Amino acid sequence: MNKEAAWNITASDSELFQRELDSFLPHRVFDAHAHFYRLGDFGANPPALLSAGPTPAGLAEFRDWSCRLTPGREYSALALGFPAAGLDVEAANRFVAAEVRGDRHSRAAMVVTPELNAEAVRAAVRREKFAGLKCYHVYAGTQPTFEAEVGSYLTEDHVRVAHEERLTITLHLVRARALADPANQQVIRSYAERYPNARFVLAHAGRGFNPYHTIEGIGALKGLQNVWFDTSAVCEGGAYEAIIETMGVGRLLYGSDFPVSLMRARPVALGDSFLWISRENTDFTAAYADVAPSLTGLESLRFLKRACHHMRLSDSDVERIFWHNATELFGL
Ligand SMILES: [Zn+2]
Repeated sequence: MNKEAAWNITASDSELFQRELDSFLPHRVFDAHAHFYRLGDFGANPPALLSAGPTPAGLAEFRDWSCRLTPGREYSALALGFPAAGLDVEAANRFVAAEVRGDRHSRAAMVVTPELNAEAVRAAVRREKFAGLKCYHVYAGTQPTFEAEVGSYLTEDHVRVAHEERLTITLHLVRARALADPANQQVIRSYAERYPNARFVLAHAGRGFNPYHTIEGIGALKGLQNVWFDTSAVCEGGAYEAIIETMGVGRLLYGSDFPVSLMRARPVALGDSFLWISRENTDFTAAYADVAPSLTGLESLRFLKRACHHMRLSDSDVERIFWHNATELFGL
């Protein structure tokens, strides 16, 4: 991690925001995918991106940095711990829950690992007032975890608790083809149909970093009443449009993936996969221009703006994506 690259909003970034995004972004923003954390909860090796920024990173720091990136906005959030190997999950969950307790327009989701007893999850949800669960492939029992099937990191027991307690489940799909993978499609359909009060939020537009995966797979979820998508960190056209077209504008929730939004990088579709390109892995030298990537959060907003325009959304539809869809989902 190049410390100069992330957590650093340059004059060019501010210009990009002013030129392209300031007139698009509504005043009130609910960020449905924001990570809150303390470095101390990661043991000896916290993720490099987090080490380069503030600690703790709670509601105040999230709002401060969100407003540096997009000045003048009022932010609320669905706060999630930052799932990573070595995280003290219980301590991280307590921190995230405490951070949103004083804000009536924010909620927290509980990081769940597959071995957690379902009744312990239910007790923690009730005690800490979690509105959702957050699962992640790094806790899957199978290797490599990037090929894990959903059931190995989101257990049916946990889905049942989500159904009974009316919780959201923020689900970041893995496997090479994400939403285009038949095993992923089948388990989402099966869980969603059998547990209708659990509300699935497929992170990163169904992990549509390669939008063709979401475009190809979205039809398999058509008709499901309890599946939403967050927009976080997707920096390509196509996936947002497919979601709006097939599932409806009411199913898309703005998310930034804070603090990933502050990385100077962009996931780019290549062939049947994608790559996060940044100065660390890419030489941006070019004869024709001074090539410089912007921050992930701004790059992503540009594609969301373009999708809204292409889909001819009204201002009130755009406000649904940034606010009302989330406030309805979380009963705020
Ligand atoms: Zn995330």
